[in-house]
Amino acid sequence: MSTLQQRFPNHYSDAPARLQAYEIPERGEPGKAAGLLLPASESEVGEMLRTANETGARLVISSGRTGLVEAQRPEGEIVLSLEKLQQPLSFSLADGRSFDFETGLAPEAHGDALAAWWRDAGKPSVDGASILVEGAMAVDALNQILAPIDLMFPMEMGSSSAATVGACVANASAGANAVCYGTATHMCLSASGYWGNGEPSGNCTATRWRLPSPDALAIDSASVNTDWGLIGSQGAFGVITQLRLRTYPVPMQREAAMLPVADMPAAMRILGAARAAFPGEVEEFEFIGRSALELVRGLRGDAFRWPFETDPGAPYFVLLQLKTPDPNIDLAARLYEFLAGELDLQDELIGYAPLPVLKAIRHSITEASNHRMRALGGGRLSFDTATPVAVFGDYLAGLQAQLEADFPQVEWIAFGHAGVGGAHLHLLGTRESPVKASAAALIRRVIDVTLAHGGTFSAEHGIGPKWAEEYAAHTTPETLEGLLAQKRRLDPNNVLNPRSFGFDRLLK
Ligand SMILES: Cc1cc2nc3c(=O)[nH]c(=O)nc-3n(C[C@H](O)[C@H](O)[C@H](O)COP(=O)(O)OP(=O)(O)OC[C@H]3O[C@@H](n4cnc5c(N)ncnc54)[C@H](O)[C@@H]3O)c2cc1C
Repeated sequence: MSTLQQRFPNHYSDAPARLQAYEIPERGEPGKAAGLLLPASESEVGEMLRTANETGARLVISSGRTGLVEAQRPEGEIVLSLEKLQQPLSFSLADGRSFDFETGLAPEAHGDALAAWWRDAGKPSVDGASILVEGAMAVDALNQILAPIDLMFPMEMGSSSAATVGACVANASAGANAVCYGTATHMCLSASGYWGNGEPSGNCTATRWRLPSPDALAIDSASVNTDWGLIGSQGAFGVITQLRLRTYPVPMQREAAMLPVADMPAAMRILGAARAAFPGEVEEFEFIGRSALELVRGLRGDAFRWPFETDPGAPYFVLLQLKTPDPNIDLAARLYEFLAGELDLQDELIGYAPLPVLKAIRHSITEASNHRMRALGGGRLSFDTATPVAVFGDYLAGLQAQLEADFPQVEWIAFGHAGVGGAHLHLLGTRESPVKASAAALIRRVIDVTLAHGGTFSAEHGIGPKWAEEYAAHTTPETLEGLLAQKRRLDPNNVLNPRSFGFDRLLK
């Protein structure tokens, strides 16, 4: 019996049937877990880490298990699952008054209790309010708690029903409305937990979001800010067990439209014009490539509704979403004036539909890509890149042209967060021509073109083991040494996520 098992008999398992669920990653091949640790309290996380340091055990962190860079997939390590740490702790107003949540309630009941406290307090202003939660609370659960008092935690990802706030803050996750609110790191006032050596971290802080200049990268999870400690460091140095999060008012009105564009440079001109016309009110600016939309149409069948009377036949579409805190202005009319007036778009090229219909199209792309991959039977390479917004249109146009010319056998699906220059690229092979056969050349080409445009090969999904080699290859020796020095200081035995960033090789 291992020391971890002896010390935590009720919170440790090595039963193969139990481990199986933790061996299958969101994407990629299954791994192999040596055991499973399920801490039931924050302090137990620290105790487990200290024991792992004594015994030389290695752990991979697992929360909602939606991560896309294989960080949570064990390869002989023990899985440290934070899934029991999902309680809200307290809600604080800017004037210092606070509400403590009861333990053990469902999110809706927490939301009702919070709303009752707020009403009894005379409905005070919630400007600047924050909420203290445990690390493994799911994003959607947090929003269920905040919704009754018209507040939100604005992470909009296709994975938010399972993805946890701790992981999002650790991974600098961005999502569809990063153009407005930044990444999860910016939504976090402070995070605390335990370093890899088992010592308490104290409060780690980051900075509030400010939209960078169009010439700078807005999102880049290949750049770890070591001054932020646990925040944005992807579980490399420690485990976030508790966070104080900013809250944001749910906008009084939202309006959106889908627009066909001739190419991505044209799409980015719309973004520039929209930002100038609606300062601070562009909540989302997503792009969807033609092939992605066709796949969603195929997947949905008769249930699919074009937001246009007829298919406009464009190679790209953008989804522009505006918000306002003002209940009285006519936001729909302002959007229409902008599209029909300033952009001079014909009515048939303005794709209006209820917001959930437009969102459903955007959020179906991954599922549609999964279906297509299975049907083609040749595997998939997935990329999560970003460039400065100023060159994003040219970047995508250039990359697509190169891939179509040099890899005609590969199917290209492109979509993502154009507002912050972020692209999700799926390259699919066929049974006759599996993507594996040309994987090295494809990866090289995508990364080279991305870097040539001042971009990053990991915009928001992190490094994990998936991009460890690229990280080492494209990081300056000074930056790499800074990361390794921090790792040696805070996790000297490389207990936590030992293969992420290639630590197992780099620390030798
Ligand atoms: C359909 C789909 C859509 C997605 N869309 C987006 C998107 O738009 N934008 C985006 O950024 N991501 C997106 N993702 C990726 C994913 O949801 C995020 O990376 C998210 O942060 C992972 O959260 P999780 O709780 O599932 O973490 P897990 O997958 O359980 O963990 C992954 C890794 O995160 C780190 N980690 C987890 N919890 C902690 C913690 N408490 N402390 C320290 N480190 C921790 C560890 O390194 C861990 O190994 C998407 C994923 C899917 C499946």
